[in-house]
Amino acid sequence: MQKDHLLTRRRALLTGAATLGAAGLAVALSPVTGNRAAPPAPPAAGAQAARRPLQPSAYRLRPLTGYGTPRTTGRTPVREEPLLRVDGRGRTMVLSFDDGPDPRYTPHILDTLARYDVRAMFFVCGEMATENRDLLARMADEGHVVGNHTWTHPLLTRLSRRRIRSEMERTCDIVEKAYGERPEWFRAPYGAWNRAAFRIGAELGMEPMAWTVDTLDWTTPGTATIVDRVEDGAAPGVVVLSHDAGGDRSQSVRALRAYLPELLDSGYHLTVPRRQYA
Ligand SMILES: [Zn+2]
Repeated sequence: MQKDHLLTRRRALLTGAATLGAAGLAVALSPVTGNRAAPPAPPAAGAQAARRPLQPSAYRLRPLTGYGTPRTTGRTPVREEPLLRVDGRGRTMVLSFDDGPDPRYTPHILDTLARYDVRAMFFVCGEMATENRDLLARMADEGHVVGNHTWTHPLLTRLSRRRIRSEMERTCDIVEKAYGERPEWFRAPYGAWNRAAFRIGAELGMEPMAWTVDTLDWTTPGTATIVDRVEDGAAPGVVVLSHDAGGDRSQSVRALRAYLPELLDSGYHLTVPRRQYA
């Protein structure tokens, strides 16, 4: 049903692909993370751009014009804006799930991702992670990326630097214990970033990752609405925000079962970003 719509939209977006990067900070995607083989590119405007192979330079984090050269703390730059999307080369998109893990919903999301051999990002809260370490271990086993979403999901802009650091550092520690690696990405609750969050995140070795398309699934707008928002927002480089905890997320679970195969059938490659260290 929405396939024609998706194709049409994608053509329109690919036509304008050259300007995608300027819309916000982007990060390069690794082309090697497992995913089922992308179907042949459709004979559409922009197909040539979609076929262009990733160049080695595309593997590196690439802050784009408009924000200047970030200062660096060790290997991680201190940014002034979060990353809003990933590098738009090819029909790559990222799915991200926040606030979990929650044993009522996260396993279903993992099952669906596994069924289609797709990797996603999970921005976990420390207080949820410490209660559900088995789910972080499963995420590690199945190749997903776990990011830091603070310990208690506070509004960071109202906290002292000391409390921001505590929220973030404790979460890094539990992720390392349960997932096996310290997180390389963080996402501020409510998308409320400030200078201290950027600096402390960088000091803890993390890049700030926001999103491009917000499904607003936490308002429980209905499964079909969530599906529509993902499919309407689908475009190269898009990062989709959904939630696997924080309330009744059964709509989010069902929506994924519907839009994931649609995106794959439309030629999207769902993957996770990879940090490149010099
Ligand atoms: Zn959140």
